[in-house]
Amino acid sequence: MCGEKLKAAGGEIWGETEFIRADVGNSQAVITVKDLTNGTEKQVSCRLLIDAMGTASPIAWQLNGHRAFDSVCPTVGAVISGFEPGVWDANYGDVLYSHGDISRGRQLIWELFPAANDELTIYLFHYHQVNAKNPGSLLEMYEDFFTILPEYRRCDIDKLEWKKPTFGYIPGHFSTNARDRTVAFDRLIAIGDAASLQSPLVFTGFGSLVRNLERLTKLLDVALKHDLLSFKHLNAIRAFQSNVAVTWMFSKGMMVPTGKFLPPQRINSMLNNFFGLLADSSPEVAENFIKDRFDWLTFNHLALKAARKNPVLLLWIWELAGAKDLFRWLGNYVNFTRHAIVSTLLSFWFGGFLKRNQTWLESRYPGLWLRLLAINYAINIGKPPSKQGNSGAIAKTTIHKPEVI
Ligand SMILES: Cc1cc2nc3c(=O)[nH]c(=O)nc-3n(C[C@H](O)[C@H](O)[C@H](O)COP(=O)(O)OP(=O)(O)OC[C@H]3O[C@@H](n4cnc5c(N)ncnc54)[C@H](O)[C@@H]3O)c2cc1C
Repeated sequence: MCGEKLKAAGGEIWGETEFIRADVGNSQAVITVKDLTNGTEKQVSCRLLIDAMGTASPIAWQLNGHRAFDSVCPTVGAVISGFEPGVWDANYGDVLYSHGDISRGRQLIWELFPAANDELTIYLFHYHQVNAKNPGSLLEMYEDFFTILPEYRRCDIDKLEWKKPTFGYIPGHFSTNARDRTVAFDRLIAIGDAASLQSPLVFTGFGSLVRNLERLTKLLDVALKHDLLSFKHLNAIRAFQSNVAVTWMFSKGMMVPTGKFLPPQRINSMLNNFFGLLADSSPEVAENFIKDRFDWLTFNHLALKAARKNPVLLLWIWELAGAKDLFRWLGNYVNFTRHAIVSTLLSFWFGGFLKRNQTWLESRYPGLWLRLLAINYAINIGKPPSKQGNSGAIAKTTIHKPEVI
């Protein structure tokens, strides 16, 4: 759809073209690319370069070269058809289904999403700490996938139709605050996996991009309209959510550090604890949590309940995370709390104030206007639907929250 819209507006898409370099000047950025069909280089200039080259983006790596990803999620799977009727009800997905206990340093987890007709997309993955000596082989995982699939869902492997493989390493960034990851430079901004602000727990980067699409496009529109294309302005345009950032400790709790022995049932016990709580809560609470829409009160309520139900959980987290990461995470928590207080104080009047004062604020102080708009989006995103208050959108539009996990 994006491609169609771009072409309808007079844009061009160059396929089989590789990004080589970007030279950023005062009035424009010059991009050098290589046509892979004939090996020739071409140049194109622009006011703003948007880097959407995913986690392997050379630009994102250069901007954040001092810090590699904090975790990685080796994932293998396939789109499959041919399961017998009754094996799976296509009205449901299977979000996290752990397979057995920890073995060979991994807690394997299944995911299943119904696709078109009778097709099912099935993944097998594990949370993994980045380790050069133990990268987490995808080929080995595929061997596991084919061997244990019939244990997960009844099937005869030879009778299934394998539509396409779906696999990859999904990296996670443990943001401690909104400025933690560099997503901009003068005349340059990263979005999607290149910005890497998706949840390091559910790794749903596509969902994060869709959920934040209006926020990103509206703010970029203002920046382009008023020529606010320096690092200072662009760095405020990002899909960061303080409630999502706080979840990295959960994913850390499901990684077996390389070379460390954990009681095999440990991660399942933690999952049972937490999902037991979600199962006891109302469907809205569970749904909001899974969809990254929980607020500070819900988070604390669930965390306290979990600690009360199984106090030893705290010790397990301490053992897995260690003091350094625990203190780092406390920084996240303080940030989440500060964000919750500021959101509560602003949410009743801030959107209305911006709406009433847009005309003079935007024309006289465009930089300030962009900043205030960015704050308004930040305080409204990631709230449960009933608490969205004044949406971040000011002119003529409302925020629609797509039902994407
Ligand atoms: C197995 C798997 C399952 C997933 N499941 C889900 C899910 O259920 N829900 C969800 O929300 N997310 C899921 N994700 C994550 C999701 O796929 C990503 O977050 C999303 O695709 C990011 O979109 P993007 O456009 O930022 O980057 P990408 O989709 O990675 O696109 C980047 C593009 O840039 C191109 N590129 C890279 N380098 C260069 C270069 N030097 N020159 C030119 N082009 C270049 C690449 O070829 C690619 O086309 C999953 C990922 C994997 C691997």
